[in-house]
Amino acid sequence: MTLSLPRLQSQAWPGLIRHYWDYLPVSDSTPTITLNEGNTPLVSAPAIAEAIGKSCQVFVKLDGLNPTGSFKDRGMTVAVSKAKEKGAEALICASTGNTSASAAAYAAKGKMRAYVLLPDGYVAKGKMAQALMHGAEAIAIRGNFDEALAIVCEIAAKYPVALVNSVNPYRLCGQKTAAFEIVDALGDAPDWLCIPVGNAGNISAYWMGFSHYRNTGKSSRSPQMFGFEAEGSAAIALNRAIANPSTVATAIRIGNPASWHKATAARDLSGGDIGSVTDAEILAAYRLLAREEGIFCEPASAASVAGLLKYRDRVPTGATIVCVLTGNGLKDPDTAVKHCETDIHSGIPANLSAVAKVMGF
Ligand SMILES: *Cc1c(COP(=O)(O)O)cnc(C)c1O
Repeated sequence: MTLSLPRLQSQAWPGLIRHYWDYLPVSDSTPTITLNEGNTPLVSAPAIAEAIGKSCQVFVKLDGLNPTGSFKDRGMTVAVSKAKEKGAEALICASTGNTSASAAAYAAKGKMRAYVLLPDGYVAKGKMAQALMHGAEAIAIRGNFDEALAIVCEIAAKYPVALVNSVNPYRLCGQKTAAFEIVDALGDAPDWLCIPVGNAGNISAYWMGFSHYRNTGKSSRSPQMFGFEAEGSAAIALNRAIANPSTVATAIRIGNPASWHKATAARDLSGGDIGSVTDAEILAAYRLLAREEGIFCEPASAASVAGLLKYRDRVPTGATIVCVLTGNGLKDPDTAVKHCETDIHSGIPANLSAVAKVMGF
């Protein structure tokens, strides 16, 4: 049976711009450039609740199930649609990998060119593959993310290319929709929202989203916002910019977050905190999610769970907590293979008894 388009559209999720149209800065003159992003699962995570050791409910928001494998798609669909509306023909961004993967995909969908500036040697393999596969012009600089961002900001001011980093306010508008989805799923805001912090755009966007919903009566309250940086790039937690940020979690390897003040406002207005977690804590949470919850996220994403576990003594009894898992584990296979703590049984003869022996029979 062939389905007519109107029927398909009435059944399927149309992407976050069409779904949350009234909450976004769009109009009939905005061309919707969408890969039907958003509407990601909110999954119960009892093993994390158990590790906290008191009665509470923990959910994880699987934003790595967006079309390019990270939450960046939420902001990109709005930023690229608005750039197209204004007649832009090319996009530019600095990226630790996921922004460039997303920009490259939406540029392809919108028939625009994409230029992506990457810190040489610190971009996970899957993300690089995506940018190149979608046809972006990838430019690796001998410098870190913060330096790349400074360059693209200047280029966008000088040349006719649209900047799609999270300093573009349309990015944060789109990313607000993840907070909407959490409230729509739970019926109200959670008590705590735990989230990784890199450039600090996403924590700011969630806070805007929760505030927006509360102000329009869609929820009765807002959550306390708990952001977590990696210890080697913990600018906000330490209250000073870091010149040479370092962490295994490359997506949050950022030493001078662009949305610093928005993030500290979210922290202070919500009665939350921005702390840091070590690489060892990040990797332990990364493995816990994979082995006990069946969820493969990228290392940066696991910072939200690592932080929650670190703050377990502060969790109010009976609390409902959402941890945001920002990106898909398949993005960074090298880190997974290096830190999974299990090994392949290799060189086994191709016969039943040899295989059964390895299995312990
Ligand atoms: C971009 C990104 C982050 C950090 O988000 P910010 O908005 O920069 O704080 C965290 N995790 C993943 C997987 C990302 O791609």
